[in-house]
Formats: sequence, C-alpha cells, structure tokens
Amino acid sequence: METTHRLSSFEYKVIKKDIKNITIKINGKGEVYVIAPLNVSYPSIEKIVENKMEWIQENVEVTKNRIYNMKSMGLLDGKKLLWIGNFLKIEMQQADIKKCYVEIAEDKIIVYGKAVLLKNEENIKKSICEFYKQRAKVIFRERVDIYHKNLNVYPKKITIRCQKTRWGSCSSNGNISFNYKILMAPMEVIDYVVVHELCHLVYMDHSRDYWRLVESIIPQYKNRRKWLKCNGYMLNFPEKYI
Ligand SMILES: [Zn+2]
Repeated sequence: METTHRLSSFEYKVIKKDIKNITIKINGKGEVYVIAPLNVSYPSIEKIVENKMEWIQENVEVTKNRIYNMKSMGLLDGKKLLWIGNFLKIEMQQADIKKCYVEIAEDKIIVYGKAVLLKNEENIKKSICEFYKQRAKVIFRERVDIYHKNLNVYPKKITIRCQKTRWGSCSSNGNISFNYKILMAPMEVIDYVVVHELCHLVYMDHSRDYWRLVESIIPQYKNRRKWLKCNGYMLNFPEKYI
C-alpha cells in the first residue's frame, strides 16, 4: 500500500511491505520513498525521516541538479556535455580555419570554426564525437600504462569504439576495446573499466579469482560498478545524436 505524507513542506511516500528493515529511496525524479515493514507505525516512520532529513535533502538536490543538467545537454552553443564527470558548457568561437577544431578550456568545450560550419548541427556533432574519440585514444593508453604494471599484462591492441551497451571488452587474442563515451564518467569509474578489461587478460571470465584480482587493484570496485549501473544512462550524447 502506498500513502503520501508531509513533513512541513517536504513530501514523501510510504510503501508498506512484508520486509524486515526500513529503507529510504530517492527515484530518478527526486521523489522520496520510504519502504517500511507492515508493523511500523506512521509516526515512527516520520521520526526516521526527520532524523535522516539532511541526507535525504542532499540526495534530492543531487538528483534534481542532475535532471536540470540532463535537460541542458546538447551539442549546440550554450548546451552542456559530460566530460570526466563534469558538465561542461559548449561554446562556439569563430575562426578562419578549414575544419572545426575542438578543445577543452577550464569548464568549457570550445568549438572553433567558420560561422557557416558552426551553424551546422551535423558538423558540430561530428567534430565533438571525433574529439572524444581522439582524446579517448590518449587517455585510455595513459590509464592502461598506469594499471598494467600491477598485473604484468599488456593488451596487444587497444581499440576505441562506440558500442551501445558495453563500456569495454576483451577478446581471447588479447585485444581490448573501450567505449569512448565512458570519458563522460568520473575518472575513478574510467579506471574501473580499464582495470576490469585488463584483468580479463588474466582471467577471461567473471570468476571469483577474477573479481579478487580486480579488488586487489581497486578495493572499492563494487561502488564503481554500482555507479555505472545507476548512472550509465547519462553517459551519452543527447538522444537525437546517438
Ligand atoms: Zn567483464
């Protein structure tokens, strides 16, 4: 049974279920749900919510910011894109050059080019995707160089791809590929993906030994996997450009 409750101006929903412990969840829209055992009274649920208020409001804020940022994402002047865990604003700057050129400066992604090219969405899309791909080649190699030492393995070839559902893959002949869209995630998540694939050069499965090896390099790997599961949908260019 789902009921709606108020604590001053704050609204939350309670779902009673045949469970043992109370959990508080914030959904993708920033709505707060309390899932409680059948025998816990509403006043005691309210007390728990009151005690957890700071945590709840902080997380609601994070979710609402994310929604705001997602809405402002795009590939046009003034829109935003994710880059290594941060939302960067796209800025167009006119320049008398043949092809568009993209660079990152502080908190901006700057696209330089002739006025006519900067008005062409298809062209902007190509330039920015190409920029991500080129940077991916460099960044993934750098990260592999850092982590391969712990494992004593090195991929035969590193390929940059744009798979729809995979962040990385490893083939039996020792080649590794990475999805360049993972560059939108925070660096610690990028590193998890790199280590995940490097460890497949030792174990080609997801066995206990495999995860033990991952854990020996990234002890918090479970958090990073969880981050990818929850936030993976954000690591993308806006819908119409995929
Ligand atoms: Zn795997």
